[in-house]
Amino acid sequence: MKTNQSKKLYKKGLKHLVGAVNSPVRAFSSVGGNPIFMESAHKSRIQDVDHNTYVDYVLSYGPMILGHGNKKVIKAVKTAVDKGFSFGASTAGEIELAKIVCDAFPEMDKVRFVNSGTEAVLSAIRLARAFTEKDEIIKFSGCYHGHSDALLVAAGSGLATLSMPGSKGVPKDAVKNTLIAKYNDLESVAQHLEESDNVAAIIIEPVAGNMGTVVPSKAFIKGLNKLARKYQVLIIADEVMAGFRSHFGGAYELLGLHADIICLGKVIGGGMPVGAYGAREEIMQMVAPLGGMYQAGTLSGNPIAMAAGIATLSELKKANPYEGFNETAAQIENMLLKAAKKHHVKVTVNRFGSMINAFFTEQTVVDFETAQSSNVKEFATFFWELLRQGVSIPPAQFEAWFLSTTLTKKDLKQTALAIDKAMEKVSEM
Ligand code: PMP
Repeated sequence: MKTNQSKKLYKKGLKHLVGAVNSPVRAFSSVGGNPIFMESAHKSRIQDVDHNTYVDYVLSYGPMILGHGNKKVIKAVKTAVDKGFSFGASTAGEIELAKIVCDAFPEMDKVRFVNSGTEAVLSAIRLARAFTEKDEIIKFSGCYHGHSDALLVAAGSGLATLSMPGSKGVPKDAVKNTLIAKYNDLESVAQHLEESDNVAAIIIEPVAGNMGTVVPSKAFIKGLNKLARKYQVLIIADEVMAGFRSHFGGAYELLGLHADIICLGKVIGGGMPVGAYGAREEIMQMVAPLGGMYQAGTLSGNPIAMAAGIATLSELKKANPYEGFNETAAQIENMLLKAAKKHHVKVTVNRFGSMINAFFTEQTVVDFETAQSSNVKEFATFFWELLRQGVSIPPAQFEAWFLSTTLTKKDLKQTALAIDKAMEKVSEM
């Protein structure tokens, strides 16, 4: 595996970019070594600047669910580009994407587009506070909801990768209304609700992806619904990552969670910067210009981004890949477990829809604490050997791997061989 060009770019990048990156996980901090610079991608494969190609399970951290360079999406984007980049006025595309999204989420009468998942969630929190006239938020340890001040506590992968409990520069006052509970632990939620009558909402990744893939138990979801009803708090389903990954809608719906406000991102922009939050009519009535909760954006609903989102979701609906995703994820789980057994490596595999993870631990992973029992050194060895074998997964133990509709039998065969070799390397540590 050649890395000369990546090394050169990394060195060059360090001069004017912080850590040569624009998002920390790309710096490979937890796996060590020189970050790989990418150049192009086609369908299931991505190519770096040294012309190594990899089967891509990063998929831009989720958005590229149709694989790279989908022809229909490219055509839609090119058509939009020809018409103009941004107008600062409403366009038909926004209405079209809003309909597709609202149709996919029964709890959403109206939606507001923003430019990232971070914006979607911080706006949703403001909305929950506006609607309930309460201040506190219950958040789960290990769930990431973007990098806004109030949510950068116990926030999963990015911080865990850098061994940071939270972020410097966040005032104590900004997090004083953020109460932390344990994922899959109802009692920890109930306790906060018992102790405070100032809780506006419980925010949750219905399937967590930012401590690695962690699936909630049925009892936990049922209990959350009950608690939310009993204490009259809203549930915010942060579907930025999980949305459209297990069916054409939200994971919360499959799990039976009663979501009041839903946050989206990633897939709905098909690789362009789009986020969204939506809810039933009575809640969305609070948002300006209809109501007194202010939220705005110069580039929100950008016509090119809307075109990418419309084309991505339309193609996704047609392809209906979800049964296939489950089968492929099960296949990859088998590859992981088989190779781990053969080479005597301790591994736990979690998956949901098109999200999957191998944790290097023998513990069942149900929350951030159990996720953190993983051996990150073993993960780093596994990660690098996979890369050498032409398979790219996120460079962090606590990030979900994603599937796209373009994965082929050949890709899976290569993945199986790579996993076997990588587990062998781990066993030699
Ligand atoms: N919520 C969740 C569940 C996420 O996974 C992410 C990003 N990984 C965000 C919010 C923030 O999204 P963005 O990076 O687009 O700001």
